[in-house]
Amino acid sequence: MRAFVMTSLDRVGFADKPIPEPGPNDAIIKTTRALICTSDAHTVHGAIGPRENLTLGHEAVGVVYAVGSEVRLFKPGDRVVVGAITPDWGDIASQAGHSSQSGQPLGGWKFSNSKDGVFAEYFHVNEADANMARIPDTVPDEVAVYCCDMLSTGFAGAENAHIPIGGTVAVFAQGPVGLMATAGARLHGAGTVIAVDSIPARQEMARFYGADIIVDNSKVDAVETILSLTGGIGVDSAIEALGADITFQNAIAATKAGGTISNIGYHGAGEFVHIPRTAWGVGMAEKTITTALCPGGRLRMERLLRLLEMKRIDPTRLTTHTFSFNQLDTAFDIMDKKKDGVIKPLITF
Ligand SMILES: [Zn+2]
Repeated sequence: MRAFVMTSLDRVGFADKPIPEPGPNDAIIKTTRALICTSDAHTVHGAIGPRENLTLGHEAVGVVYAVGSEVRLFKPGDRVVVGAITPDWGDIASQAGHSSQSGQPLGGWKFSNSKDGVFAEYFHVNEADANMARIPDTVPDEVAVYCCDMLSTGFAGAENAHIPIGGTVAVFAQGPVGLMATAGARLHGAGTVIAVDSIPARQEMARFYGADIIVDNSKVDAVETILSLTGGIGVDSAIEALGADITFQNAIAATKAGGTISNIGYHGAGEFVHIPRTAWGVGMAEKTITTALCPGGRLRMERLLRLLEMKRIDPTRLTTHTFSFNQLDTAFDIMDKKKDGVIKPLITF
């Protein structure tokens, strides 16, 4: 089969690989749709260290091609979504409620990290019964594929932000995950959602996904503006969806005493992330900082699919480009360099 791989640091290309075999609890999926993620570009540029001939990608849906002898819930031909994070559910971290951290910190993240990813004609899924969900007939593959990571991560940002019903929320950065955090804040009962971004197309999309107020951080000081919008006290909840030191600091400064800063940004560079001392109430302002890696698992995927089935959200506005699998090199370059106003490139197989 063909696969799109990271040949070495900063280099990508196509490779031929054997179709993977399932272990007793596993499944092999024939890929139908995939999305490129900014974290695929982070990986290629060394954020998780060097890799050789590693198949890229972690966001894909497809049709079950083969299952192991112990798989009970799926059979060949089923249309399925597979979480970007595929935990080991028997691990002690999973039993403690942190399945994304199974095995080791971030250990649930296997695709294109500790094993081959999904940018291939076929890919392997561990613990298939726990890590896949059947796609409802009314939900097309190109919609369902947003469950893998974008909806799950963006919504986790809102869930972890402890948003009180009617509360105020600021979402820092309106990339695809930030936009889904904006939508998640609305779904989670926020009274006012403030979206911070400087790119006009993203500001418009933030409004589509439920932002009430746009703060253009290229024109105004985001923290001062958010403080003045909230009577000088700050928001109940801030969501950091960029992964930059300064954005994280701004999220802390824009949050009221007793509020929550929910980080879903991937801090892919630098040695430290800083906390502004006085805005943190010199360590005593009771501001909670939460962090999350995308949640996976069948229950999670089934809940996200329900939102799509009931049309609570349409994630396909994020699809700015569509390419076939054999154009993945072109698509990857556009995503890597953030050309042409790209948000999410969809790959068809
Ligand atoms: Zn992703």
